[in-house]
Amino acid sequence: MQFGLTSEQQLLVDSVRQFVETELTPYEEEVERTDHVRPELIRQIHDRAIKAGFYAANMPEELGGGGLDHVGLMLMERELGRTSFALQYAVARPSNILRACKGAQIERYLKPAIRGERVECLAMTEPNAGSDLRSMKTRAERDGDGYVVNGTKHFISYADVADFIVLFAASGVEESARGERKKITSFLVDKATPGLDVRMGPKSVSHRGFHHCELVFADCRVGRDQVLGEEHKGFDVANQWLGATRLTVAAQCVGRAQRALELATQWAATRKQFGQAIGKFQGTSFKLADMATEIAAAELLVLKAAWKADQGTVADEDFAMAKLYATEMLARVTDHALQIYGGMGLMQDLPLERLWRDARVERIWDGTSEIQRHIISRALLRPHEG
Ligand SMILES: Cc1cc2nc3c(=O)[nH]c(=O)nc-3n(C[C@H](O)[C@H](O)[C@H](O)COP(=O)(O)OP(=O)(O)OC[C@H]3O[C@@H](n4cnc5c(N)ncnc54)[C@H](O)[C@@H]3O)c2cc1C
Repeated sequence: MQFGLTSEQQLLVDSVRQFVETELTPYEEEVERTDHVRPELIRQIHDRAIKAGFYAANMPEELGGGGLDHVGLMLMERELGRTSFALQYAVARPSNILRACKGAQIERYLKPAIRGERVECLAMTEPNAGSDLRSMKTRAERDGDGYVVNGTKHFISYADVADFIVLFAASGVEESARGERKKITSFLVDKATPGLDVRMGPKSVSHRGFHHCELVFADCRVGRDQVLGEEHKGFDVANQWLGATRLTVAAQCVGRAQRALELATQWAATRKQFGQAIGKFQGTSFKLADMATEIAAAELLVLKAAWKADQGTVADEDFAMAKLYATEMLARVTDHALQIYGGMGLMQDLPLERLWRDARVERIWDGTSEIQRHIISRALLRPHEG
C-alpha cells in the first residue's frame, strides 16, 4: 500500500494548481458577475490548456490526448475543482463515451474534440425522465437509411457552446427479466442539423457561466453512420464510462472543499471577537477539525476508486461511494466555512458564497445521492438474493 505521490504526480498537481491560479482564478469574479464566459476567453483557456498539455488529458495518447491514468486524472480534477466550474470546464476533458467512435466518426468527432476544435454535450435527461432515464420519450425511428428523431431533452449542460450532441433516444422495446423495457441508442448529432432547436434553459443557482439548454427534436434526421457504438446498446456505451465521470465530480468536490477550508482557517485565525481569534473558540476550531477530516476521507475514497480503476478491479459501488460521500461532504464543509465567516460569508465579494451555492448541484447531477445509495445497497444485498 502506497499513499504518497510519485514525483510525476506531484509535478502534475503543482503545474495544474499553477495553471488554475494564473489562467482561471483571475476570471472568477468576471464570470460570477456576468454569468458568462466570453467565447474569446474560452478560446484562450483552450489554447493555453493545449499548450500546457492539460487539454483532453483523459484521452489516449495515440489519439492525441494526455493519456493520464485514473489516479493522475483525479489529481488533476481535484485541482481544477478549486476554481469556477464554468472556467475549468474550458480545460476540456472530452466525454469518455466518445471513445466508442468508429470509422469516419473518429475524424469527424473524436479527434476534433481531442484537438479542441469541436466540443460536445451529452443529452440524456428529459422533463419526465431524470433518474429513470429508460423511461425517456425521445424516440429514434428507422426511416430509410437513417433515423428520424422526435422529442425533448432538458437540463443539457453546455449545449449553448457545444458543436455536437451525444444524444440518447429510445429505438425500440425488448423483453427483460423485469418485463418490457425501452431499447436505447446513442447518436452523434451535429448542432446545426435541421429539425433540432436549442433553447436556453432556466437559470440555475449553481455554477454561473455554465448553462443548460432544452433541445427540441422535430423530425430531425440522423444517418446510420451517426450511431455511437451499437444500435440499441446506448446505455452499454454510457455505463462503461459513467463511473469515471462520477468520480470526476467527487474529485472536484474535494478540491472545492479544500479551498473552502483554507478560507475558513485563515478567517478563523485572524478574525477577532471577544478579544481573541475566533479559531480559539472550540465551536470554531472543532468545525475546522471536522472539515479537514471529512475532506481527507473523501479524498481517500476518490483516490482508492481511481487506483482500483487503474488496476481493473473497480466496481460501480466504489464510484458511487466516492460520489455520494464527496458531494455530501462538500455541502457540510462549505456550510461550516460560511458559518465561520459569519455575515461576511454571504457576501458576493468573497468566493465562499459561490462555493456554498455551487455545492448544491453536485448531489443532483450525474446521479442523485439517492441513486448512489441504491447502487451501494444493491451491491451489499446482491449476494443474499435468492
Ligand atoms: C444544472 C444541471 C445540469 C445538468 N446537465 C445535464 C446534462 O448535461 N445532460 C443530461 O442528460 N442531464 C443533465 N442534468 C440532469 C441530471 O442528471 C438530473 O437532474 C438528475 O439525474 C436527476 O434527475 P431529475 O432532476 O429529473 O430528478 P428526479 O429523477 O425526478 O428525482 C427527484 C428526486 O427523487 C429521487 N428519486 C428518484 N428516483 C428514486 C429512487 N428510485 N429511489 C430514491 N429516490 C429517488 C431523486 O433522488 C430526487 O431526490 C443536469 C441537471 C442539472 C440540475
